[in-house]
Amino acid sequence: MEYAKSILDTIGNTPLVKINRLTAELPCLVLAKYETFNPGNSVKDRMALKMIEDAESNGLLKPGGTIVEGTSGNTGMGLALAATVKGYKLICVTTDKQSKEKVDILKAMGSEVHVCPTDVEPDDPKSYYSTARRLAQEIPNAWYVNQYDNPSNSKAHFESTGPEIWEQTQGTVTHFVVGVGTGGTISGVGRYLKSKNPNIKVWGVDTYGSVFKKYHETGIFDKNEIYPYITEGIGEDILPKNVDFNIIDGFTKVTDKDAAVYTQRLAREEGMFLGNSAGAAIKGVLQLKEHFRKDDVVVVLFHDHGSRYVAKMFNDEWMRKQGFLD
Ligand code: PMP
Repeated sequence: MEYAKSILDTIGNTPLVKINRLTAELPCLVLAKYETFNPGNSVKDRMALKMIEDAESNGLLKPGGTIVEGTSGNTGMGLALAATVKGYKLICVTTDKQSKEKVDILKAMGSEVHVCPTDVEPDDPKSYYSTARRLAQEIPNAWYVNQYDNPSNSKAHFESTGPEIWEQTQGTVTHFVVGVGTGGTISGVGRYLKSKNPNIKVWGVDTYGSVFKKYHETGIFDKNEIYPYITEGIGEDILPKNVDFNIIDGFTKVTDKDAAVYTQRLAREEGMFLGNSAGAAIKGVLQLKEHFRKDDVVVVLFHDHGSRYVAKMFNDEWMRKQGFLD
């Protein structure tokens, strides 16, 4: 018989899928690391499990404990899978900007969810960062995950996502392009790929309203770069410890409109029903066109599933209201 010991054993080993129509103008092969095949439908299952396992072995998370995290949904889903299988309680703290589906999905998985305002400073007591920290201090036997600064986040990608991409491309990958939020994916995968071949180029996809690109180019944390945006999952108003700026060769910024339009196009032209950061990532690849040559192998990572965005990027009325449809 062949079976997984629990749902957690099905995390990882996701396929690499060729993109055909959307990248026809590029001279090279473009392959998508298709992370929605994970049981929680996103790449975040990998790091959620790794963060919990490391906290268990470090003694930070004890039997019967409560896991507290500030999450927009995907990390919450990954944590929910692992918490359920391993017998922990989970509290997720999120913002009012996130789609209702994401919050409903976390509740469906048995998680307690607290929703905080988006438009406050990170150190405001009402922010979701502060609320998560406070709950973890107040609740006995609680552990605050902190995916932004927790090194197990990028380590998960160094140990699984990176090696999978290297082996699936048989070491031919020349570029890795991915959206950046906590920085775990780009830093872990980038560090692994560069350890195998330092010539591999690692590009981050950022959004307008986020600090990453300017900080990478100038070393300046410019508060003028921070303003509300619609794109979900990428960009930050803080510098998470998981973003390793030294292994990143550059950032490209994608507009909210382009990210939304390309999320639709991935579904309608490639049959890839994916989340908003996948739209941003593939548009980012197209924006980097001049960096690619004929024999290059570009891997772009798609983080999550389209079902979480049906009321937004896949809803033409919502798209029209945002001015995203011509
Ligand atoms: N896309 C989505 C949908 C996400 O949830 C996240 C995580 N915030 C990212 C991209 C960015 O990934 P990372 O946190 O590993 O940088």
